[in-house]
Amino acid sequence: MECTQKVLHSGWYILGNEVKSFESKFANYCGTEYCLGVANGLDALELIIHAYGIGAGDEVIVPSNTYIASILSISANGAIPILVEPELATYNIDPALIEEKITPRTKAILVVHLYGQTCDMGPIVDLAKKYNLKVIEDCAQSHGAIYNGKKVGNLGDAAGFSFYPGKNLGALGDGGAITTNDKELFEKLSALRNYGSHKKYENLYKGYNSRLDEFQAPILSEKLNWLDEDNAHRRNIANYYSANIINSEIINPVVKSGADSHVWHVYPVRTRNREQFMNYMDGNNIQTLIHYPIPPHKQEAYKEWENMSYPISEQIHSEIVSLPISPVMDLSDVKYVVEVINAYHSS
Ligand SMILES: *Cc1c(COP(=O)(O)O)cnc(C)c1O
Repeated sequence: MECTQKVLHSGWYILGNEVKSFESKFANYCGTEYCLGVANGLDALELIIHAYGIGAGDEVIVPSNTYIASILSISANGAIPILVEPELATYNIDPALIEEKITPRTKAILVVHLYGQTCDMGPIVDLAKKYNLKVIEDCAQSHGAIYNGKKVGNLGDAAGFSFYPGKNLGALGDGGAITTNDKELFEKLSALRNYGSHKKYENLYKGYNSRLDEFQAPILSEKLNWLDEDNAHRRNIANYYSANIINSEIINPVVKSGADSHVWHVYPVRTRNREQFMNYMDGNNIQTLIHYPIPPHKQEAYKEWENMSYPISEQIHSEIVSLPISPVMDLSDVKYVVEVINAYHSS
């Protein structure tokens, strides 16, 4: 590719002009003052929590229904993840259940715009103000989603993005970014991602090595030009599914805010006999996936939570299944999926 040739010939492979240029383009896209490229999405979240000084003994509220990385970012800092159940309709954290989990040790609410849909941020930001908490967004699945006219990444104090290849904006390898309007945080993070160093061989903090790769940056800059179009295509597919899948055994996803609040990283449906449904789909040459089969509190890594009960998350994890959706699917593929699903009945 031409853009990678440019990097090759520049002779500058770490934190060069391509990363800088992508950072300013992505900040501009999200509507934030600042963006910093980092190595991956998990690092983005972990670094934000670290930069806010959240650590041992502190509590961070996080949804019980999420990809494990959201929760790992809290554990990695020695802080305690406090799980809050989602709304069954949207799969996102239920704002009405947050306040009862706030204690004097709570420092932040880490929201996850899961499957591409923005969380109900109004009441969450109000609670954060009332209790003086930071709001950190996990935007790994929601690049470009809009809540009340503002893009994700600009709905809290700081946000982490992943550019893992399968995400709505994906690199050709690992990548991530942090967006924020907080200048002090931005400056601290600029050093933290680079050994804690602002100036070569001078270290203010015990930092990390977590940088967006110079070769991935121009690829991301180019793909960012197509993100809105790709998301619009995903939305067309989702709208077609939602309008045309009519089967009493299949529960379609619900969009709570406006249409642009969802960028359909996945199209999740629920069904009681999931295994049978997936086998049926497979028999018709349609691949379905589970996001995710085991809830975080049932993972071996979090054995300490094995006796905790999060019934809504457990129900979601046992019934959810993702239909094919991608910017490269055409309408005939989508129509076929609908026909096959509408003819399904469990035995
Ligand atoms: C992918 C993902 C992450 C982690 O991003 P990586 O770049 O793979 O580290 C974090 N949170 C959510 C919700 C994700 O989907």
